[in-house]
Amino acid sequence: MTKRLNLLMVLVVIGLVAVSGCSDTQANGTVTEDAGASIAKTTYVIGTEPYFPPFEYADENNSGAIIGFDVDLIKAIAEDQGFSVEWKSLDFDALIPALQSGQIDIIVSGMTITDEREQSVDFSEPYINAGLALAVAENNDQIKSVDDIQGKVAAVQQGSTGAAKADEFKAQGLIEDVIYLPHVNDIIMNIQSGRADFTINDLPVTLAYMNEQPGVIKIVDDQLQSESYGFAVREGNTELREMINAGLANVKENGTYDEIMDKYF
Ligand code: GLN
Repeated sequence: MTKRLNLLMVLVVIGLVAVSGCSDTQANGTVTEDAGASIAKTTYVIGTEPYFPPFEYADENNSGAIIGFDVDLIKAIAEDQGFSVEWKSLDFDALIPALQSGQIDIIVSGMTITDEREQSVDFSEPYINAGLALAVAENNDQIKSVDDIQGKVAAVQQGSTGAAKADEFKAQGLIEDVIYLPHVNDIIMNIQSGRADFTINDLPVTLAYMNEQPGVIKIVDDQLQSESYGFAVREGNTELREMINAGLANVKENGTYDEIMDKYF
């Protein structure tokens, strides 16, 4: 009899935990999606390409956790707005399709706000200014500026604005070829091996690389194009975009944004 009562109590407790788990607005489990009626999400899945220091990259001292300017900023925004986040690593050019198909909810990946991307996603307010730089191997004395890229080969990150810029040069018949690669490290290898002559990539990322690995590449033009980064959400997801914008305004106001800036730059 007592045994049966105990069992009953255990079942009741499990039931209560399960119920409270579902209704807990701070739940940090996986996203719950109800067929038909939509349940308010409190955990958003963030998509990122985490090989892009200082914006998002693996922390070698901490079992590869993703850290960086973007990471701290979205965490501060999430805290301010009372939602939690989960991370999903993808190649950069897979991020927008993953957002559109609902695999992720927010792109946090040093993504430049462009007119073309605005056609398929909604961006938050810009959260930082960046821009494109042209870099060559440290020992390259042929390319001294953008005026010297005639007939040369570019290595760029696939799907990036740097790739779009290289495509533009190629369409103008200015450069010979463009090699598309998934990550910055692949680009550097192609420059070191001489397969590519130059790269076009985000200035802060190029500078961070040069700081980490001195003597490999050098910048010959640091203002090829000016850009701003935004967080992207699915088209029409106004609620989430407004939350991100409100959180961004608050963390700028309360000094958190400046602290994160000081930490990474
Ligand atoms: N800012 C560039 C873009 O949006 C590159 C971003 C990246 O590679 N993470 O295309």
